[in-house]
Amino acid sequence: MATLTFKGGVHPYDGKELSKDKAIVPYLPKGDLIYPLSQHIGAPAAPVVAKGDRVLVGQKIAEAGGFVSSPVYASVSGTVKAIEPHFVSTGAKVNSIVVENDGLYEEAPGLSIKPFEEMSRDDIIGVIKESGVVGMGGAGFPTHVKLSPKDPDKIDYVLVNCAECEPYLTSDYRIMIERPEKVVGGLKVVLELFGNAQGCICIEDNKPEAITIMQKACEKETRIQVKVLKTKYPQGAERMLIHAVTGRDLNSSMLPADLGCVVDNCDTITSIYDAVILGKPLISRVVTISGEAIANPSNFESRMGTNVAELIEAAGGFKTQEKKVISGGPMMGFAMFDIEVPTTKTTSAITCLAKDAVSESPTTACINCGRCVSACDEGLIPARLAQFSEKFDLDAFQKWHGMECVECGCCSYVCPAKRPLAQMIKNVRRMVMANRAKK
Ligand code: SF4
Ligand code: SF4
Repeated sequence: MATLTFKGGVHPYDGKELSKDKAIVPYLPKGDLIYPLSQHIGAPAAPVVAKGDRVLVGQKIAEAGGFVSSPVYASVSGTVKAIEPHFVSTGAKVNSIVVENDGLYEEAPGLSIKPFEEMSRDDIIGVIKESGVVGMGGAGFPTHVKLSPKDPDKIDYVLVNCAECEPYLTSDYRIMIERPEKVVGGLKVVLELFGNAQGCICIEDNKPEAITIMQKACEKETRIQVKVLKTKYPQGAERMLIHAVTGRDLNSSMLPADLGCVVDNCDTITSIYDAVILGKPLISRVVTISGEAIANPSNFESRMGTNVAELIEAAGGFKTQEKKVISGGPMMGFAMFDIEVPTTKTTSAITCLAKDAVSESPTTACINCGRCVSACDEGLIPARLAQFSEKFDLDAFQKWHGMECVECGCCSYVCPAKRPLAQMIKNVRRMVMANRAKK
């Protein structure tokens, strides 16, 4: 079986054995639910409920605040307790709707949908927009916008990103094992929008069971294939995925659609299926709770707005002192300062580490070993970019293509001097982007 890949990258310990065989368990939250109004890229959602209102499961509580925005739905029944700022996992304070859970899980009617065969292109995109589906791999970009490129006929690939290259994460893996028909069904919905496209379900070769199941699930589908990718981090980053499957190269000034590609994450594609075929808005997602500090690593079907500390408790709590809790995985996720925050549409995992290799290793001077250059999947010179970062030399940073960094963290991972290269580069990228936005 041919495996597809990209240049550079690393092979970190993946920790997937902790939770890969744990079936998805639905979790019913106990405490208050907090729904941030910004859990997507774009304008914040606007509340359509007020303090004191009773809400039902699947009831819209906030409307999209513009075309690039997304509505928010209640995931429990109960009473709106407040609309006020709350901390989220990034450490930011975001205006949020707080719902007191009544524990009854009384449901609102589903989305109003036509049978799929009768839906036009606009109907399908309208339902996806109305359902609140956004990129659930971490970006949070509203999916209806991604599915509305200027020229749909030029799209010749729809890629479902099931690589799941981030260590410890197993939510996509469990979805493929347990819900393959939804992955294929969601992809068929998206292919309906792009008549010239072939669909590819892209999986790393360290997931043979998932590959077999997905191949069986799409054996009768003439427009869908399973693409087997070499196991290497960051294989699931959009640019690496597109390169591995199509040979095309994306850069920071382009969108995947410019190369004829649409890329959707595994959980996003099943949420599209739920919305368009079943009429269900986005109220839950699969979240992996794992890491050496967790007593019983688990995969939960978690309702949006559930408290992270509560999910950790549901996974048996900490069996040892946690040194670091990360929203996402250890390579591209971010360290959390507090676990009393809600899960959102983009929370794929909470990784609880018993050892913090980063802060326990002293940083020393660069020894010019070149390992960061070999590991960089974008062909950059991370050591030099980090020097520009130290001097705040934004011009030189851009001249040396610093904006092409995908913030994968491979350079930091391999650096024997333990230099926080990716973090330094990321900081300057933010500064350049802020300057560009001002202009
Ligand atoms: S410079 Fe950026 S793209 Fe290259 S390895 Fe470091 S974080 Fe990844
Ligand atoms: S890997 Fe670290 S020590 Fe080696 S060249 Fe890069 S920054 Fe310097």
